[in-house]
Amino acid sequence: MKRALLVNPPVYDFAAYDFWMKPYGLLKLARRFLSSGWKVYFFDFTDRFNPRFTDTGTARSDRWGRGHYEKKIVTKPAPVGYVPRFFKRYGIDERMFLKYLQHVDTPDVILISVTMTYWYPGADEVTGCLKYHFPGSDIIIGGSYVKLFGEHAHSRYNDERVYLDENFEVLEAITGIDFTDVDLEVAAWELYDTLRYGVVRTTVGCPFSCTYCASAKLHGAFRKIPVDVVAEELRLIYSKGGRDLAFYDDALMFNMEGLKEIMEILKKHRIGFNFHTPNAIHASTVTDDVAVFLRKNGFRTIFVGFEFGREEVLQKTGGKVRLQDTTRCVENLLRAGFNPNDIVFYVMFGHPDQEFCEAEEDVNAASKSGVRIMLSEFSPVKGTPDGDRAIEEYRIEDPIETNKTAFSIKKFGFEKVNALKNKVKELNKRLAA
Ligand code: SF4
Repeated sequence: MKRALLVNPPVYDFAAYDFWMKPYGLLKLARRFLSSGWKVYFFDFTDRFNPRFTDTGTARSDRWGRGHYEKKIVTKPAPVGYVPRFFKRYGIDERMFLKYLQHVDTPDVILISVTMTYWYPGADEVTGCLKYHFPGSDIIIGGSYVKLFGEHAHSRYNDERVYLDENFEVLEAITGIDFTDVDLEVAAWELYDTLRYGVVRTTVGCPFSCTYCASAKLHGAFRKIPVDVVAEELRLIYSKGGRDLAFYDDALMFNMEGLKEIMEILKKHRIGFNFHTPNAIHASTVTDDVAVFLRKNGFRTIFVGFEFGREEVLQKTGGKVRLQDTTRCVENLLRAGFNPNDIVFYVMFGHPDQEFCEAEEDVNAASKSGVRIMLSEFSPVKGTPDGDRAIEEYRIEDPIETNKTAFSIKKFGFEKVNALKNKVKELNKRLAA
């Protein structure tokens, strides 16, 4: 039997928090390996709940399953040396990984997925370790980093046994497996020993095309996942102990029919979750009826894109949400019984066309709705109009400079960024009091 080892590397960043983060794409790939008769080994450095690898059988979580990772301070990479914050490694200790590898028979292929373009130091760590441990195995690195920063990746991983794969072409050539439509697979949640929460997509892509967003580039055209696939994933997550569920959809509310069917199936099987929408839903879609539906069906935290207040920027970037939409959305959610502390507005921060005073105004405007606020820090995504512009304007060469903490500081300066973040913290604290 052929063997694959799939690894989700540790995170290297200024800040990281388990905000319902799972390597969902990797789990879908895992299913295709399993159904092709391969043995799959899986190691997720960000799994806070696996007592085999962490002491986080004791992991402290908030009431919805989110929490802090194990972390340690590491050397700050030179391109982001100007950021006056510690740089850290988040995730399971490398010694645990080495211990795990002792029980892994030499894999035919190893897959490492890098989710954020600026998280490649995690791949550096894991690749180095695996090259030493399994010198005869082919290693394939994929994910957003390779898709968006291919040139950088090629210059970095110049090794005869390490391959970079943007579209599964290398993976298919090496394994002989067809990965077409892998998005439609049931993610292999059974690879986790235990779960506190899970994540799911009912759709792939987005019907909009905002000028700063990578959705189209990463996921292609908007399409729906068959309801039975989603239902099976939810069943698997539930059977592993997951009771909170985060939707990873970019446009969840554009699949209301599918969502309704899924809720009916869950009811029939007496499966209940606390649902969350961390990828934000579109304010204009939350009518009175939709708000009631969400409340009745176990949605607990609702994240809404607030974006920009200035009409000109709004129009230029996609023009999909207005202040009156967000106000109406909140009114509907509150009427349906949601707690204001469980409704969150994402306010865009650090976009190339945004002045600092406008970000302040947007925070003020959002706070008038009486819900929580989170700054959605802009990260320049290569291959998008706004990302390419920012990369050129700020002379970004290394993807690590697209780190969202670093970029907003580069644009506005540390003092201002810190002041606005403190203001948001204060507003949220007042709301909770
Ligand atoms: S920002 Fe949101 S609405 Fe716009 S394209 Fe991306 S996912 Fe779609």
